[in-house]
Amino acid sequence: MAFDKIKTTQPKVVQLLENSLKKDRLSHAYLFEGERGTYKYETALYFAQMLLCTGEEIPCQKCHNCRRIINKTHPNVYVIEPIKNSIRKQQIIDLQKEFSKTRIEPGPKIYIIKNIETINVNAANSLLKFLEEPYPGTYAILTSDNINKILPTIISRSQVVQFSSLNNAIIEGDLVESGYPSSVSRIASNLTNSITEAIDIVNNEYFLEILDLIKEINNLIASNDESIIIYFEENSSIIYQDKLLSNLFLSLLIIYQKDIINYKINDMTNIVFKDEIDTLNIISSNKTKNRLIEELEKMLRLKSRLNSYINERLAYDNLLLSLERR
Ligand SMILES: [Zn+2]
Repeated sequence: MAFDKIKTTQPKVVQLLENSLKKDRLSHAYLFEGERGTYKYETALYFAQMLLCTGEEIPCQKCHNCRRIINKTHPNVYVIEPIKNSIRKQQIIDLQKEFSKTRIEPGPKIYIIKNIETINVNAANSLLKFLEEPYPGTYAILTSDNINKILPTIISRSQVVQFSSLNNAIIEGDLVESGYPSSVSRIASNLTNSITEAIDIVNNEYFLEILDLIKEINNLIASNDESIIIYFEENSSIIYQDKLLSNLFLSLLIIYQKDIINYKINDMTNIVFKDEIDTLNIISSNKTKNRLIEELEKMLRLKSRLNSYINERLAYDNLLLSLERR
């Protein structure tokens, strides 16, 4: 379980919850809000443990209650997830029924609703009543990746708790821990603040191919003995398959370009493509810092307009021509 991760990645949230518990100022409804992969659900379970733990160091992770919460068998902890991208009224009714049953044990009751932004209007109306007149000792934890899509009536009845984005180092560490090679983990962690998105990226069947394409383009710029345009025409068909791959290609090209600039200014700690030092060295000594920055700006402009480009191919050719120019 990711409980250690919660403390290192979301220390403010943990502190807020611990203080509220200590001072007996718990809110009856919390809205955990933050990007995908920021451990909101795990923190909700951790919170439930804080309330139900019978151990000495709370939450102990060892007592009967803590273990049942981890194993999702504690009757006082009820989790609702969207069914086909929507939270339905029946799910809220089931929750209310469940919490009025006698098999519920004495002590706090916690319900967790994941992706509360997907709740439909009927279900929301039932939930609002429940939020307004909670049974004693009942706590709601609503989680969301997108607070902008949540009904204001739900937000106003909850205490909003904001989760921080994960930093690159944490995502990189998580990927390495999950068995991905360190070079690839480092690159993927620079593409997103979400661990689930990072895993999607490294698992994308074209990721390594696009990575090779980026490296080869830069090797050709460094060696200057073959036209990159011709190479690119022959090897780039995958990036036109869908916008996601095109975006990935351009994002990687941008990271590589930043590496060249970092090498130029002697900032080695932030270099992402660590196994490309030789190429970074050659390109950065062949071009002025200003030129490298202009090239980077060109890439960033192209990225911001990528979705509206009709002739992507032409745009890439123009970009690569300007990179190749001596
Ligand atoms: Zn415990």
